[in-house]
Amino acid sequence: MSPWVAVRVALVLFVLLWILGPSELRSFVPLLLVFLVALALEVQFLVGALRSSSARLPDRRPQEVDRDRYGFEREPDELVVVEDGDAEVWLAVSEDESPDEDDEEDEVEHDEPAPRRAPSPVRRFLVGLALIAALVATIWVLESRTGWDSLDRETRIEATDRFADEASRVAGKPVTIFCDESGDFVGAVQHTDGVAIVGGDHAYLTPERCLDLYRLAFEGEVTGSRTGRAIAVLAHEAWHLRGERDEGTTECYALQSGVELGRRLGLSEDRARQLMRQQLTENALRGVGSFEYRVTPECRDGGRLDLHPGDSSFP
Ligand SMILES: [Zn+2]
Repeated sequence: MSPWVAVRVALVLFVLLWILGPSELRSFVPLLLVFLVALALEVQFLVGALRSSSARLPDRRPQEVDRDRYGFEREPDELVVVEDGDAEVWLAVSEDESPDEDDEEDEVEHDEPAPRRAPSPVRRFLVGLALIAALVATIWVLESRTGWDSLDRETRIEATDRFADEASRVAGKPVTIFCDESGDFVGAVQHTDGVAIVGGDHAYLTPERCLDLYRLAFEGEVTGSRTGRAIAVLAHEAWHLRGERDEGTTECYALQSGVELGRRLGLSEDRARQLMRQQLTENALRGVGSFEYRVTPECRDGGRLDLHPGDSSFP
């Protein structure tokens, strides 16, 4: 299998797995990155193929052996004399090949255009681009039919009102939640999953997080650790609205509030606790890049950030 084909098969299989597979795959592997890698490989193959083909151009002329076989210098096997009226015509006749066979051979040996034998690198590159574009379009259509935006307007309003009620309990005051990524304003703490002004009265969550919260609260659906993440994000922004600025402290409080929040949205207490513990574990595993969001060692049972020091379960 050529590398071109291998990359495309791998890409299609991965996209299928991404669509049908476990939700963890979706939340941990950004599909855009996968498409960019595939595109980079296609470009690399193209450049490589163009370089090697310019280095040694194949000789497309008939080979010596072909000329020997079909060329004009061939000696006829037999000469036949035909009488045409008064004149005598001499014909050269070969008995070893019928005209049909000759045509077939010619097609294979001489008439086949080069691209059919081995597709040109540029054409193969364009096919690769078309495949990537088709996959991106497929994902886009799927997302628009199944995503947050696919819910009707009234359902979305009802859902965000519900999220706002829950966030208000955590924030200790009435706050508003918007399910939108457009909240890019001055003085806000901005994360990949949400935005809030410290001490403010409204926060923005990404549509993905809102959809997971909606599925939990309105359809009783739990999508693995993604549901846990969505609960933690809502609680996190709510704690910012309450006035907490420090990221590590905010996250630590959010994971504790998330147990009650998750329970109110329909989880059993055990399940809510388990999802928040999972978030705490993932928080500790996160890389240096998100260092400032890392919870401190004080985020433990009986630690300085324990909201319920009398309770032995944490979070
Ligand atoms: Zn934050």
